[in-house]
Amino acid sequence: MTDSRYDVIVLGLGAMGSAALYHLAKRGARVCGIERHGIGHEFGCSHGSCRMVRKAYFEHPDYIPLLERSYALWETLEEESGQELFVKCGLLLSGMPESTMVRGLESCYGTHHLPHRRMDSDAAAKEYPQFRFPEGHTVYHDPEGGYVLAEASVEQFISLAQVNGADLLIHEDAMAWQSNGVGVSVTTHQRTIGADKLVLTVGPWAASAFAELGVPISILRKVQLWYDSPNMGVFRDPSFPCFYFNTDNGGFYGFPAFSQLGVKVAEHTGGDPVEDPDHLNRGLEPEDETKVLQFLGEVFPALEPRRTHFGVCMYSMTPDHHFLLGKHPRHENTIIAGGFSGHGFKFAPVIGEILADLSIDGTTMHPIEFLGLDRFAPTLRSST
Ligand SMILES: Cc1cc2nc3c(=O)[nH]c(=O)nc-3n(C[C@H](O)[C@H](O)[C@H](O)COP(=O)(O)OP(=O)(O)OC[C@H]3O[C@@H](n4cnc5c(N)ncnc54)[C@H](O)[C@@H]3O)c2cc1C
Repeated sequence: MTDSRYDVIVLGLGAMGSAALYHLAKRGARVCGIERHGIGHEFGCSHGSCRMVRKAYFEHPDYIPLLERSYALWETLEEESGQELFVKCGLLLSGMPESTMVRGLESCYGTHHLPHRRMDSDAAAKEYPQFRFPEGHTVYHDPEGGYVLAEASVEQFISLAQVNGADLLIHEDAMAWQSNGVGVSVTTHQRTIGADKLVLTVGPWAASAFAELGVPISILRKVQLWYDSPNMGVFRDPSFPCFYFNTDNGGFYGFPAFSQLGVKVAEHTGGDPVEDPDHLNRGLEPEDETKVLQFLGEVFPALEPRRTHFGVCMYSMTPDHHFLLGKHPRHENTIIAGGFSGHGFKFAPVIGEILADLSIDGTTMHPIEFLGLDRFAPTLRSST
């Protein structure tokens, strides 16, 4: 590790920063990544063993081109690392026909040619007997859905970045950063380093930087839960896929059992506001489990849930639940990414590529106009 000037500094090495570091290093940029904790740590938003990946994108059809690229890049990461990181076990999505989710899926499938099947709740129950689908639900199967291993992916991005020459400052807390016409500098407890460009990927710690730009982000506390059951065999891949249910009680999702911990389940909706990410309540409160246990009882009658593990994490929610990505409107040499609103991980490889494009080339071919910061603060200069 040298203190000399870099082409790019990446501040924050969760999913997005580690992917950016990987792409920048592969392109031959002199790059340094800074992270206040260890790699794959459990204090941010990129931990909890797995993250769902899907092409069934009810949030917005414009995500599909980015997803297609992300799928290709997940494959490249697996090839380069020699590790299986993406398990395509399929995904079931279940909701009432008039729900935002089902309408969003119809819009997505109407706009893009994507493999999928649509079933009513009876047909779905015959095919997937572990599930009890609420009456009247429409069920979609996304054969390209599945999950990626979260911490392992971050670790592989970092290790391949290092193979390609990236420097790392781990367990270094950045106290301040500056950007002017000539470049940027970041000061940690130990040193100050300089670069031509800065990529800011500090997850929920970016909320105050976005607020200063008039872009409101709310941080939510989210709890992930794991359950074992005596009959765990029927809740494993390949007969048991990932799932997302839109119910009267909220949106719930989960993963097949692929480790001793059993099935992982969480509520996508809800979540208590977090004032300060450094003071997140990381304990398990009795009410954290109530709705999840009720959901499990209603949807998986054969599961006898025994909790084996839990983890607390944070969503960085934008008002429209779409990401924020682009040049910092007030600092030409800084690129900022955040507000991933609980669905960003699957895009990490392509977000990393875009961050590398923006910091090296100043522009990107990827269609990210709909993710610009100026949609919330129209006075901000176009940020792509
Ligand atoms: C419970 C949960 C479930 C989710 N499920 C899914 C899913 O199924 N599918 C999906 O696609 N997405 C999912 N997401 C969303 C996805 O995980 C996030 O969008 C993504 O991980 C965000 O990554 P990030 O790099 O922006 O943030 P983070 O992972 O928080 O990374 C930010 C990093 O910056 C570092 N940092 C901050 N400040 C400093 C500083 N001053 N100095 C040095 N380092 C600093 C932090 O330590 C941290 O490592 C989920 C999120 C959560 C919380």
